[in-house]
Parts: sequence; C-alpha cells; structure tokens
Amino acid sequence: MALKITSDCVSCGACEPVCPNSAISPGDETYVIDPDKCTECYGWHAEQQCASVCPTDACLEDPEHRETKEQLLAKFQRLNPGKEPENTDKWQPLGRSA
Ligand code: SF4
Repeated sequence: MALKITSDCVSCGACEPVCPNSAISPGDETYVIDPDKCTECYGWHAEQQCASVCPTDACLEDPEHRETKEQLLAKFQRLNPGKEPENTDKWQPLGRSA
C-alpha cells in the first residue's frame, strides 16, 4: 500500500528529495504523498526512504491504499518504463499503520 504522511509532520522537507518516484510534495499543512506514485519504494530500495529519514515517524502505511507486491511492481513499471526493479528480494513492507 502507499504510504501517507500524518499530522505529526513538521514540514522539515527531509523526505521529498529521497523519494525515488517523486511522490512527495509540500502541502498546505504537511508534506503529502501521491498514492499514484508511491510504490513503498518497491523496485528501488529494501526499505521506505521517507520513513527512514522522517524525524517524527510521520510516514505510515495508508490502509486506504492497500496494494499487493504485484500491484506495486506494475506501478513501478508504469512510472519507470524500461527500468529493471532492484532489491525486490530484500524489500519489506513498513508494518506501521496510521
Ligand atoms: Fe516515495 Fe518510497 Fe516514501 Fe513511497 S515509500 S513516498 S516511494 S520514499
């Protein structure tokens, strides 16, 4: 499932540059994640980059956007045409829900 950024976000901006899918942007109150672009870092990294840099643990799984690995892979391929997915054998879901 895509991740979401909760109201614990302090708008430090640490997450925006680390997202490989450019899914994060500044919102009115907090940074926001576009669920159409978030693959939970599937295809790129073993762990979710935004969650790993967030100082307030504001990046959590979004239960409203549940997806299987196959769906995440399809999203990765749509966003990154021709790119081979990496680290899929090491990838783990975040396991921290809002
Ligand atoms: Fe971007 Fe990965 Fe965070 Fe999703 S989990 S918003 S792809 S950094």
